[in-house]
Amino acid sequence: MSSVGIIGSGLGGLAAAATLAARGHKVTVLEKNDWLGGKAAELNEEGFRFDMGPTILTMPRVLERVFSEAGRDMADYLDLRRLDPQWRCFYDDGTVLDLKGDKGAAARAIGALSPEDAAGFERFMAVANRLSDVSDRFFFWRSVEDLRDTMNLKQNMSLATLSDVMALRMHRTVAGQIKKDIRDPRVVQMLEHFIQYVGSSPLASPAVLCGIAQMQMGEGVWYPIGGTRAVPTALTRLGEELGVDYRTGVDVSSIEVENGRAMAVIADGERMVFDKVVSNMDSVRTYRELIGGKAWRDFGHAKREAACSGVVLYLGLDRAYDHLAHHNFVFSRDPKEEFRAIYDEGRPAPDPTAYIAAPARTEAGVAPEGGEALYVLVHTPHLRPGHDWSKMLPEYRRTILDKLGRAAGMGDIEERIVFERTLTPQDIHDRYKVLDGAIYGLVSHGRMNGAFKPGNRSRQVRDLYLAGGSAHPGPGMPMALMSGWIAADSLHQDATSNVAAE
Ligand SMILES: Cc1cc2nc3c(=O)[nH]c(=O)nc-3n(C[C@H](O)[C@H](O)[C@H](O)COP(=O)(O)OP(=O)(O)OC[C@H]3O[C@@H](n4cnc5c(N)ncnc54)[C@H](O)[C@@H]3O)c2cc1C
Repeated sequence: MSSVGIIGSGLGGLAAAATLAARGHKVTVLEKNDWLGGKAAELNEEGFRFDMGPTILTMPRVLERVFSEAGRDMADYLDLRRLDPQWRCFYDDGTVLDLKGDKGAAARAIGALSPEDAAGFERFMAVANRLSDVSDRFFFWRSVEDLRDTMNLKQNMSLATLSDVMALRMHRTVAGQIKKDIRDPRVVQMLEHFIQYVGSSPLASPAVLCGIAQMQMGEGVWYPIGGTRAVPTALTRLGEELGVDYRTGVDVSSIEVENGRAMAVIADGERMVFDKVVSNMDSVRTYRELIGGKAWRDFGHAKREAACSGVVLYLGLDRAYDHLAHHNFVFSRDPKEEFRAIYDEGRPAPDPTAYIAAPARTEAGVAPEGGEALYVLVHTPHLRPGHDWSKMLPEYRRTILDKLGRAAGMGDIEERIVFERTLTPQDIHDRYKVLDGAIYGLVSHGRMNGAFKPGNRSRQVRDLYLAGGSAHPGPGMPMALMSGWIAADSLHQDATSNVAAE
């Protein structure tokens, strides 16, 4: 078996570590921060506890698979609760719409707002189901970089394959697909927001990503008791039991490549030799900053743009807002204006959509009694030249709080705040070493290629594997976890098959 060095302990890195250790490899995780878990970090101060990054957990089966690799039952490590409603949506016109956890109930709630859209929602979900199924069969659980890796069209051309290719609707965007079935702009806006899980515009992302709606509606939205932070904690424990060596405070500055093979990593002047290396650092920055040379030129010729970034306000309130659900969206007045600002013009939206997590609905201990640990996230452009968030934040904080007052019945929020911290795109950039402050790796724009990300088995450097939100299959908790599993599985296949390794 191989000795493996993993650079970074985000969810992708931790999933790769546990999977590799379960298959008998000797694993060392090198993490620059003093905590494990990357963006799935926690802020715990003055009686308030906040998840700092991800708050919505979907597709727990991905996590289950990592535990089952080691013959473990995830339930012994994590206490997951299914949430219903999944989201509560607030609109500028005063409408409040719950996205129910059950598809039938969701269709009825939508029908109460817009009768013709009840059937439209069911049609949309049938398409989403088909797209999710095609993704499951061709796209997930293996290293994929482009269409050639998904279906071997020459060998397998059959009516069934053709029908799968047609199902991908490669000529259409997410927004175009939703528009086909849904009339009411409020329902359109809610469904378009599924694509925000990958930090991209519905106007530019391929229709195949409508499958995300099924992954949430079909499999539920979950909350781990202890917050989403409980996920890296559980994975770390699993890895420890399997013998993973975790080292924090180790900032890797380069990967040594000799004769096209990854041989060693360098951190703080120390050279550590491994048979194989997994990078959980952003994929572009891995090639650009850790490797360079021809490998970077080969990788970097494809234009790769960061997905969106965001501002988070962590607000400790002395009085709770009882009208909030666990997950809430306070939608912008005009989604086109919002998406154009963030994705085309590279400036914060003048009237943004704010996502609010109020986890006290599910776990009282996150705030002092009667209080609220409110997490408010607004998507912003990824960092552009001239963005100075130390100057931009005060004004944008005002814009966000005004929005909550106007559209979500929280006009007195300033009076309730007793604790406040913030996270800006620059903080995200510096804390996690991502590309241009991106929350969700690389943007998914382009009707044909938008869903493809760099594959998990490097095409440029042998014995190098990529895991994390900027590698295949993409960002978000379940996808980052799956990327770690795929990187580990690809590495294991190569290590155990002489043909592939030589
Ligand atoms: C504010 C916010 C909200 C989000 N909300 C959600 C949500 O609700 N639901 C959801 O599913 N997803 C959400 N996400 C996205 C999700 O958090 C990420 O997709 C996922 O956690 C990324 O995991 P990763 O494996 O890419 O690693 P990351 O979390 O990016 O971690 C990478 C790790 O590598 C380390 N590292 C990098 N370079 C080096 C180096 N050279 N040497 C040593 N260590 C290094 C970093 O310090 C970091 O710890 C959110 C993210 C943020 C920031």
